[in-house]
Amino acid sequence: MEKPTHIVVVPSPWFSIQASVMEFCKRLIQHSKELHVTCLVPTLGSPTEATKAMFQTLPSPSRLHSTFLPPLHYDHLPQDIPKPVQITPLLFGITVTRSLPYIRDALHSLRSSSRLVAMVADLFSSDALICAKELNMLSFIYLPTSATTLSLYLNLPKLDLAISPEIKDLPEPIEIPGCVQLHREDLPKPIQDRTSPLYAFFLQRCRKFYEADGILVTSFEDIEAGPIRALTDEASGYPNVYPMGPIIQSGSGTLNSHECLRWLDNQVPNSVLYVSFGSGAKLSQDQLNELALGLELSGKKFLWVVRAPSESPNPAHVNYESSGDPLQFLPNGFIERTKEQGLVVPSWAPQVQVLSHNATGGFLTHCGWNSALESIVNGVPLIAWPLFAEQGVNAVLLTDGLNVALRPKANEHGLVEREQVALVVGRLIQGEEGREMGRRMQKLKAAAAKTFHKDGSSLKTLIQLVVRLEGKLDHE
Ligand code: UDP
Repeated sequence: MEKPTHIVVVPSPWFSIQASVMEFCKRLIQHSKELHVTCLVPTLGSPTEATKAMFQTLPSPSRLHSTFLPPLHYDHLPQDIPKPVQITPLLFGITVTRSLPYIRDALHSLRSSSRLVAMVADLFSSDALICAKELNMLSFIYLPTSATTLSLYLNLPKLDLAISPEIKDLPEPIEIPGCVQLHREDLPKPIQDRTSPLYAFFLQRCRKFYEADGILVTSFEDIEAGPIRALTDEASGYPNVYPMGPIIQSGSGTLNSHECLRWLDNQVPNSVLYVSFGSGAKLSQDQLNELALGLELSGKKFLWVVRAPSESPNPAHVNYESSGDPLQFLPNGFIERTKEQGLVVPSWAPQVQVLSHNATGGFLTHCGWNSALESIVNGVPLIAWPLFAEQGVNAVLLTDGLNVALRPKANEHGLVEREQVALVVGRLIQGEEGREMGRRMQKLKAAAAKTFHKDGSSLKTLIQLVVRLEGKLDHE
């Protein structure tokens, strides 16, 4: 009997990457009669509840399989790495590197029963692609991020030559083919500091992109026509780029889901601001206070996913669940005073369901790309509050590029004060600007809905990829 054809996926230990790549795998299988996918999940400490729930709810039986690799523990990490987590990407990288023996073992055992065609890894797990090369598999990088961010990454080796010796030597604004104009302070922090170990890590990863057989990015033409055209121009010298967004998680039935959805059921359409900073980010205690008091001052309805504060705001603990009850960090009396105005949810909400609820009229987001896409798919306008990683780049795209987001101003200490919070919330929720942004979002929502329909751009790209993956067998 013919051996089944296998794609192996190795995601970084971070919920939003795992959830996005698994959605991509579901689509891959849906559009191929023969491909099987096995996801090998490197693990740092214990996986979060969200990660466990997401892998547990994969369709079964199916051609999509997943296995958690033996976990790496924090005390296995090299002691010279500063702790805890300003260097989360480095931790991801080390987790994957230390998991290489398990990945090799898994590949060898899969090979006895399957034909291994390709491996898919992401920015932080791309060391795993060494194993793919050893077995003559194709290697792909999956980036659940904007095409603008991908353009920045692919241009980083060139920009690096222009940064001598410091980021301030970069010409302003930073021009990247097809992209909105970026400024130095919009770039991911590691790229702003050439002396940081993360800068070297990013640069090395970005150079490696050029060795991949393809890069899969979860954006689409109607939101990023400029960068996508530049990235897919054959004369550009970029590797093969497959734009196949939007890909969003299909919904997380984890903690608190019923309470906040029931609460939304009792609210007026488009009246509620949803406030959430992604799957792990945290604010400082001062910023948490100002946000709380600003929401209260706005008088608008809110649904806020609250996490315990951290003085190293960017980014957060890999496992946020270990931080105790986050609501204890809110200002005195806040919950009681706002009980008719808002709902606070500790740590996690079923975001996709919240954004698709008709009571949700705005989203205050850190501009993680998955959050941005989930908002676009549901036509919800934004307040852009970037914190770390490539969120500053996404925020520029959402505000200057697409005009679907308002951006609050921080003071000279980087703090967004309560009056500023109240001002932007008032402008977005039931304000004229918010209504206009909502109308623009509705157009993007309609465009997003078409990308995976017949003749949609992302469906065509996905099918091209499937053909390439299946066709690889013919050349063996
Ligand atoms: N998410 C969620 N509930 C929460 C917080 C986040 O379901 O309370 C999901 C959200 O829907 C998205 C992901 O976590 O799919 C966050 O991804 P994003 O790229 O926006 O940010 P990151 O977590 O990478 O910072």
